[in-house]
Amino acid sequence: MNEKHLSGLSRREFLSAAAVTVAAGVIGAPSILHGAVKHELPKLPYAENALEPVISAKTMSFHYGKHHKAYVDNLNKLTANTEYADMSLERIIKATAGKPDKAGIFNNAAQVWNHSFYWNSLKPKGGGKPKGKLMAAIESSFGNFDKFAAEFSNAAVTQFGSGWAWLVKDDGKLKITKTSNAETPLIQGIMPLLTIDVWEHAYYLDYQNRRPDYVAAVINKLMNWSFAEDHLG
Ligand code: MN
Repeated sequence: MNEKHLSGLSRREFLSAAAVTVAAGVIGAPSILHGAVKHELPKLPYAENALEPVISAKTMSFHYGKHHKAYVDNLNKLTANTEYADMSLERIIKATAGKPDKAGIFNNAAQVWNHSFYWNSLKPKGGGKPKGKLMAAIESSFGNFDKFAAEFSNAAVTQFGSGWAWLVKDDGKLKITKTSNAETPLIQGIMPLLTIDVWEHAYYLDYQNRRPDYVAAVINKLMNWSFAEDHLG
């Protein structure tokens, strides 16, 4: 499953693809892994240079190839031989949320999930305006598209320090939220539709301190509306 591109997958497929693969049966794998869940870095749904000029290949190389990979590697190390060793990614996130002594596991697990979701929230030649039922939901929830875009942008720009801005569906209505560090709407049982990573590692090589420019470019040119519509329900 991890070999398959995530774009175009249903929400259920996305979650399972982003979550886990089973390491049992890998020749030469340490016996310690036998039967345990090994989290894997999901394949990017596009080439590393496909989001240029909005996000450079250099940023993608570090952000996906180093940061996202490190969260996956750390999660595997931290969960080996623990009660979390055979849990799916989502179960680990929910089981460790709010537990200070499990913060290391939570932070890495949530960051694995958040980044997989972020890559799918973007697409080459994305942006513009959504159509159909997603546009209708945006208009009924925010008034019009421009008000939605302004609220999404404002959340992303004003998140103090590292974190994420989200478009979520909560109680039948679309809303904008923001979270700090690795926090994710998932822990409240809320399914996001789109996210923007506003950790400095997401934009600093390309935009330095100009976070508003990065956010505007992502919303205008990279938003993957069809991914959001897939899990609108
Ligand atoms: Mn990031």
